[in-house]
Amino acid sequence: MNETVIAICKCPETKRLYGIRIENVSENRWEMTWTFPIKEETAKREGYDQAVIGGLVYASANFPGCPYCQSKKMTICSQCGKLFCNIGENNVICPWCEAAQKVRGGGKVSFRICSDI
Ligand SMILES: [Zn+2]
Ligand SMILES: [Zn+2]
Repeated sequence: MNETVIAICKCPETKRLYGIRIENVSENRWEMTWTFPIKEETAKREGYDQAVIGGLVYASANFPGCPYCQSKKMTICSQCGKLFCNIGENNVICPWCEAAQKVRGGGKVSFRICSDI
């Protein structure tokens, strides 16, 4: 039952979109395994912006990070629920809705993806 979803992430550095492939490795554990640049039209057409997964998401050992800024740190916006990368700062602006976000520290990437909000 290796379920795979594609989540859409926006890079604040370039304002460009990319997809993150996330695999369900065990119950309630998901791993980000791959990223690829994507166009907004494609994301909509493929329904990637509808992906909803529950549980904790971690970066896999080979996770390449953002294809534009190479960051492996992903943040989910508490305002709009969308995903973006950040280059390691504690105060960041969501590139989707421009709400200021406080990013909690910690080495492991863990968040809940629910891009359907
Ligand atoms: Zn980025
Ligand atoms: Zn937002």
